[in-house]
Amino acid sequence: AVEFPPRPTWADIDLNALLHNLRQAQRFFQPHQRALTVVKADAYGHGAVPVARCFQRAGVCDFAVATLEEAIELRDAGIDDALLVLGGCHPGQEKAFMAYNLMPALLDPQMALRLSAAAEQQGCRIPAHLKIDSGMGRVGFLPNLLRDFLPQLQQLKGLEIVGLMSHLACADELDSGVTLQQLERFRSVRQMLRDGGIVPRDIHISNSAGLSGWDVPEATLMRPGIMLYGGLPGPDFDDKLELRPVMHLRSCISQLRTLPKGSGVSYGHNFYTERDTRVAVLPIGYADGYNRLWSNRGQGILHGQKIPLIGRVCMDWIMFDVTDVPQAKVGDSITLLGFSEGLSILGDFWAEQLDTISYEVFCRIGSRVPRRYL
Ligand code: PLP
Repeated sequence: AVEFPPRPTWADIDLNALLHNLRQAQRFFQPHQRALTVVKADAYGHGAVPVARCFQRAGVCDFAVATLEEAIELRDAGIDDALLVLGGCHPGQEKAFMAYNLMPALLDPQMALRLSAAAEQQGCRIPAHLKIDSGMGRVGFLPNLLRDFLPQLQQLKGLEIVGLMSHLACADELDSGVTLQQLERFRSVRQMLRDGGIVPRDIHISNSAGLSGWDVPEATLMRPGIMLYGGLPGPDFDDKLELRPVMHLRSCISQLRTLPKGSGVSYGHNFYTERDTRVAVLPIGYADGYNRLWSNRGQGILHGQKIPLIGRVCMDWIMFDVTDVPQAKVGDSITLLGFSEGLSILGDFWAEQLDTISYEVFCRIGSRVPRRYL
């Protein structure tokens, strides 16, 4: 094989910051509560296997992913802790859940029947977390439907209901009546199950916003996601949470040219230089998850200075005006997301500027960008 250095574009993943954020989440836990760390979508773009291993070293032994494929990636890497698949079991996946010792979130009666039948065939029981739609309006058993299904559920020999879970729709709004109503419904479902002889070992409903904003003493698990990666669950959480960014996206200057005053830059020429301009070109673009909406308004950090992105973001290139950074040279790294030299461009800032949420910012940093673990 021929060895060669990678394209100089990468994301530093700061595992110390990740652990710091885990401890921030744990500040809100009661002694009987533990973290069910959400590492779906490749740990929100941070790399599921290294992130899960890092949490394991910190004593975490419960993980959640969205899909069977994501779960198998962790199993293949030797992570054999409790693993919950939030997206449930799609038809035909039942045997794989057993083979890999995975717990599905149980979303509807058909899924329960299919899983139980498959398990009975193999003479085993599948541990599952019963998901209640307490008001999210997305997936899970509606309370009334569960009431009707309960007699059947009690008879399913192939399932062991080890968890009762739900998901909060508005936990980031700290004065939301929706959350109170969801908690009330969740509690009455728990009572209904108890009356029917089903007493799950684990109870959980709280995401990052939920666990830091709402008290749920009966919960045994908390499901933090975004806060672990340094994103705020909502604008009101700034003074509640002291989080550190984990992902730092960087790319090195690969071309440095001076364009005369009046030159058009990039597709569409919707930027013209207003002076003789030193232009730094970086090998990164929207194919890497550097959003095209940053055209003419992105920022970078170079030698302790903020610099403006000029012209349209291309698929594989972006351009910065570095005229005011005379020491800039080919090979210098520019930070596009995260910390550098006391300055920051946070995921929450990206999100606010681009009218999205930090979750999407992190998830979108593509697989073409290698992650380096610090
Ligand atoms: N639980 C479920 C079911 C989820 O879908 C998610 C994320 O979307 C989480 C927990 C974690 O949420 P957050 O990232 O807001 O902490």
